[in-house]
Amino acid sequence: MKLEHLKSLKKSELHAHLNGSISPKLLYELALSTQTLNAKELGLIQAPPSDWDSCFALFGLVYKVVRGPQILYRCTQAVIEKFLDDGVSHLELRTTLKEDLEHGISWDSYLDTILQATDDFLNSPQNGGQITVKWIISLDRSKGLAYVEKSMATILRHHKKSPYIVGTDFCGDPYIGHFKNFERTFQHARQEGLKTTVHFAEVPRFEDLWEILDFSPDRLGHACCLNKGLFEKILEKQIPVEICFTSNLLTGVVCAPEVHVVKAFYKARHPFVICTDDFGIFHSTINDEYRKVAAILNLQVAEVEDLAARSLAHTF
Ligand code: 5GP
Repeated sequence: MKLEHLKSLKKSELHAHLNGSISPKLLYELALSTQTLNAKELGLIQAPPSDWDSCFALFGLVYKVVRGPQILYRCTQAVIEKFLDDGVSHLELRTTLKEDLEHGISWDSYLDTILQATDDFLNSPQNGGQITVKWIISLDRSKGLAYVEKSMATILRHHKKSPYIVGTDFCGDPYIGHFKNFERTFQHARQEGLKTTVHFAEVPRFEDLWEILDFSPDRLGHACCLNKGLFEKILEKQIPVEICFTSNLLTGVVCAPEVHVVKAFYKARHPFVICTDDFGIFHSTINDEYRKVAAILNLQVAEVEDLAARSLAHTF
């Protein structure tokens, strides 16, 4: 399928981490102008990771570069612009709250900056009403309950005054923590009108997956390391899945394209949405993801068009 045709399809992107979605080119330029990375690190950001650890090491380099409100503002707009260029008409970006007092960033000013950048972009002639953007704020499970509760209080305060914050995401190292410890906090956010998505079964650790399904999240991210019982429960509950195909292969949690869970979801006619996760880290684009998934599912052009159109039905 031709790139121009893929680009022309209206579609949503529902699983994209802000700091993982900065294009390698922009990241490189920023790293040079701020002189924040050494020669070896500059080399590392120019290639995709080869496994889980090298993927997360790359985020450490991104955070060295994206410091201070001006760079954050610029990166936020660049990420939105790239998705717009690729034909995304509804974008749900996500990010964890950041504090970097040395560079003038608190949780509140971090949120203020990305929300202002979003508002300015959406109201610019460049957008012309072509893309809508919403925010999902991620809460890192590895940082413990006190951190998650405090983050949630900040998120809810901003949610009250901003139309852009629509959901929360349970994320972070899937080997640490248990959803049960955080469930009340997510329940509270739900009562306040925020939707929930969860990084789910991204690795083969089954510790809290049944409890997460009992909570009935509005969407699940990844869901690529499932057993039969979990797979069937997701079908029964009809929870849409955010598929991050390239991410799962490059982080090594799925060993080959042919065994990716997207095949089983497609066969079962279960709702899923093709997403990038971190196109900057993985050197991919949303259209690359459509092309790869279309190839593995043997889709005809009309079926790809249908997949793109249906992605708009699962937004928050
Ligand atoms: P940020 O929250 O800084 O905008 O987005 C990057 C962060 O998202 C990373 O530091 C990491 O914690 C999280 N992240 C990005 N991609 C993945 C992924 O595939 N799996 C998990 N568990 N976390 C991710």
